[in-house]
Order: sequence, then C-alpha cells, then structure tokens
Amino acid sequence: MEKKILRLTTLVTGIFGVGFLLLLWFLPDIQARADSYVQQREQKKAEQWDSEMQAAMEGMTALEMMQYNTANGVGETQAEFAEQLRLKLPDGMEAAQVEIDNDYLNQIISIHIPEADQDYLYEYPMIGRSTHIDDLSYEVGAHEGVLEIAMDSVYEVKQRGDGPYLYLDFLTPHEVYDKVIVIDAGHGGKASGAIKKGVYEKDLNLSIVLALKDLFEENGDSSVGVYYTRTEDVNPSLKARADLANQAEADLFVSVHNNSTTSGKMSGISGTQVMYDETKANETYGSKQFAQICLDSLVGELGSRDKGLVKGSSIYIINHAQMPVALVEVGFMTNQEELEQLCDPEYQKKAAAGIYRAIYQALEEGF
Ligand SMILES: [Zn+2]
Repeated sequence: MEKKILRLTTLVTGIFGVGFLLLLWFLPDIQARADSYVQQREQKKAEQWDSEMQAAMEGMTALEMMQYNTANGVGETQAEFAEQLRLKLPDGMEAAQVEIDNDYLNQIISIHIPEADQDYLYEYPMIGRSTHIDDLSYEVGAHEGVLEIAMDSVYEVKQRGDGPYLYLDFLTPHEVYDKVIVIDAGHGGKASGAIKKGVYEKDLNLSIVLALKDLFEENGDSSVGVYYTRTEDVNPSLKARADLANQAEADLFVSVHNNSTTSGKMSGISGTQVMYDETKANETYGSKQFAQICLDSLVGELGSRDKGLVKGSSIYIINHAQMPVALVEVGFMTNQEELEQLCDPEYQKKAAAGIYRAIYQALEEGF
C-alpha cells in the first residue's frame, strides 16, 4: 500500500516537473508573441489614427488643419508654448533657413520653408492659436513651400528655433517699438499725380521718401519703428494707406507730395506748404501742431518760401487718420526753378532731412 502511494506521488511529481520544464521552455516564446501582438495592435491603431486624420483633413484649408491639429492633440499639442504658432521643420532643416517676408500694408506674412513639399502640412503638423490669423494658405514653389498668413492687423514676427520646431509670435508694432511712424509717398503706379515738363509727381514723392528711409536706417534707432505705404512704383488704395497708419497705431503719419498751382500752368509761385486736419486744430499734440513743426523744419532745411499751413480735412488720408497727420507739399512743380531743385537728389535729401528732423522734434516735444 505504502509503495503504491509512493509510486503515485513520484509519477505525479514527475508529470508536473516535466510540465513545468516545458512551460519554462516555451515561456519566452509566449511572451514574445504577446509583445508582438500588443505592438501590432498599437501600430494598427496608429495607422487607423493616421488615416482618420488624413481623411478628416481632406479638403481642409491650412487654417482648418492647424485648428484641427491643435484641438486633437496632433504633434504633442499638450506641450505648453507661449508663442502663437509652431511649425515642424522638414527633416534636417534648421530654423535659420526659413525666410519670413512681412507685407505690412496688406497684412500678409509669408514663411518660406526650403524643401517643403505638397504633403508638408500632413507630415509635419502645424499647431497654434489663430486669434490674430484671418486665413492661412500653403503653396508649393520651386524647392520650397510657402505658408501665407493673412493677419487681422499689422504685426511684427518674432521667431525662435528649438530643435525641429520653429516658434512664431506675432507682436503689435508698439510691443516692439516705443514710437511708431508711418510714411506715405503720395500717388504711385498708374496714379502719377501732377506731371510737369515730363516729371511725374509720384517719382519725386518716392525719391524723397526713399532718402528719408535711408536716414532712419542709418540712424538705427531701435526704439522707433517706421512703416512705409510704398517703397516702389505702386499705388496702394487711399484706404490701405490710412489703414496701415491706424492699424499700426502710429504716433505720427506723414504723407509726402509736391504741389501745383490750381490752374496747373507754370508760374512764379513757389514754396513749401503743409496740410493738416483743421477739424482737430485745437488738440494739443494734434495735426496742426505737428504740421507746423514739419513746415518750419522743411523751410529751414530747404531755404524754400514759407507758404503756410493749409486746411486738409477734405483729403481722405487726413480725415481718416486717427493720429497727428501732416501732408507735406515740398515744393511747386509748376515753378520752373523749384521743379529743377525738386529733381536734384541733393535737394531731395534735404527735404528728407527736414521731415526726419521734424519727426524727432515732435517726439521730443511729447507726441
Ligand atoms: Zn500729390
């Protein structure tokens, strides 16, 4: 009896022992299979997510894609970032290789991303907040992708690179500069202004403004931001010109023109005039006070005849400007002698210096 029990025990122990050994033998394999099953399931999930994302993005505008990515946690959105837009750069690309153009007048910021192709926005999800963004579009050019951002106002772009990411922040001019100036060269493009003896007013205005731009750039004063309605032979609408000044919240707005007599005939009348907004004539630090500073400075610099201040509230950019505005008529194109002076680059530089000094004098006086 005892022997029987002993044999049975040995047999049972043996069977369990062999079973245990077999289990030990196959366990790594079972573990590996389980691992690969989990991996496959995750991969399938990721693929499903990718295709769902692709399907959801089908037909979306670039702006909608950005909003979708941001809302759905595509591209680790959870990471907090203070800036307003985060672009992922194509592999091997550095933030410094990205070029940014800012068209302040039309409020369009273009971001040129080298080597970005048609699928860029799918492969490298962009996230951000669209508070100041009206629209986003993406187009592929020669060896680059261009992201065009239509802003709701005038902004400066601050960029910061961090690894594969490019962070962009949009700042108002006054967040960047203490004082903001807008300079307008009158007319342009098909709108030539006065034409006397083959000289176009639009060209004289632009030459003076470009000389003024040189002065601001030579000075390099980073506390004053200067914006131009045009720096080439184009004709922005009067509305676009006034909007630039208003949306940039300019402290001073100067429009540069040249004069003609009412009849348009050549005459002995010459000299400098400045137009102002007479409806705001009583304001301290207003249009009239600023126009007077411009007139005195120009006459002093040019040695031209002082033709005084002129009421200008019927002029679009004067009555739409929400800041002190001065429309300077540097000289009379209908006066032979003055017309010759106005065509002289040295005289144009003097006119620019007169306006430049007037602006700094106004700022010193507290405008
Ligand atoms: Zn004009």
